[in-house]
Amino acid sequence: MCIEFTEEQKILRDTLRKLGKDKLERLTVESDRADKFDHESLRLLKEIGIFGLPAPVKYGGSEANATTLTIVLEELGYFSPSMGCTLIGHLALVRPLFLGGNEFLAERYFTKMAKEELGAFCLTEPEAGSDAASLKTKASLEGDEWVINGTKRFITNGGVADFYGVWAVTGPGKGADGISLFYMDRDVKGLSVGKIEEKMGIRGSQTAEMIFEDVRVAKEYMCGGVGKGLKLAFEGLDLVRCGLGGFSCGLAQAALDQAIQYMKERHQFGRPIAQFQGLQFMVANMAMNIEAARALKCFASDMCMRVTTDVVQIFGGYGYMKDYPVERMMRDAKILQIVEGTSQIHHHIIAKNLLS
Ligand SMILES: Cc1cc2nc3c(=O)[nH]c(=O)nc-3n(C[C@H](O)[C@H](O)[C@H](O)COP(=O)(O)OP(=O)(O)OC[C@H]3O[C@@H](n4cnc5c(N)ncnc54)[C@H](O)[C@@H]3O)c2cc1C
Repeated sequence: MCIEFTEEQKILRDTLRKLGKDKLERLTVESDRADKFDHESLRLLKEIGIFGLPAPVKYGGSEANATTLTIVLEELGYFSPSMGCTLIGHLALVRPLFLGGNEFLAERYFTKMAKEELGAFCLTEPEAGSDAASLKTKASLEGDEWVINGTKRFITNGGVADFYGVWAVTGPGKGADGISLFYMDRDVKGLSVGKIEEKMGIRGSQTAEMIFEDVRVAKEYMCGGVGKGLKLAFEGLDLVRCGLGGFSCGLAQAALDQAIQYMKERHQFGRPIAQFQGLQFMVANMAMNIEAARALKCFASDMCMRVTTDVVQIFGGYGYMKDYPVERMMRDAKILQIVEGTSQIHHHIIAKNLLS
């Protein structure tokens, strides 16, 4: 499949590539080593307008389509997987707002996005991961306000986001139909940050627990109406899953490029290891798999994990050390099989569609 990019898309891709080579690549290594949120890369990406891309022109955004967002995520996968995840957490709030946002919400939060403010998608809880319908966070109506209580876990951008999309039970006992979505600003009373996770990879992104204690929001902060929240969450994830395919290809390509360079430089048995057919076949397979993955999220994330693991193998003992970026790439890749639906859940969705 060949998609012809527009001139604007090519300019955006080249701008990101230049920023990636000049700055993001180095910042990625530094934030991974320090295990600290990469504020500098976030600032640089905001400067070129990345977080406002999806907001409608009407609210000051660029109204970028899924192809443009996938191009951006492919470049971030290559140069800055942590910022790729930061963008993904933000993007997951876009479609719910398009589909369910009343005029007040659309104006307030699309305008924030257009001003490069960052969002966080708060669905997962300690006891509700893949089974999102089993949430415990509750929202009860008191007069004209919803009062929200509960804890969200593993929230990308938790504590660094400017606004939050939060799923809570408004209809106990109704399962998926009893969940509603609320948007809120970071400074709303009762919202606080709990544990900040120490992660295997994407260590330049922030993943945190978010605690809601008697958080009060007016009725117009509900998105999509009572009980419509979970459908909107899945819509939000659908958009992001296209982008995750691009992200996986970018990260796998970065690892493959490292392998190709290393194979030409490293000599064993008196010749470059690039001359060994076993390794030639490995990189040929990686290139084929990356190409095949360009349109498939689930295939792409599994492919990315395989490619980054094999690239560590090509580096031998050096691949296991922190002197080269490939061990970090392998750690960063693992999240792609977990976040926005695990690989098992994707297989489950595919099988359900085939068998229904
Ligand atoms: C770094 C990071 C960032 C994250 N960011 C966010 C975020 O921004 N917002 C948010 O809401 N969440 C976020 N998450 C949470 C993420 O979406 C969940 O971790 C994921 O959905 C899996 O849920 P779980 O961890 O509770 O695992 P579980 O659901 O407990 O799954 C455990 C295992 O069981 C398998 N499993 C579960 N159900 C089935 C089934 N029906 N069939 C077959 N296998 C099954 C899973 O595939 C997995 O292997 C993040 C997680 C991480 C690690």
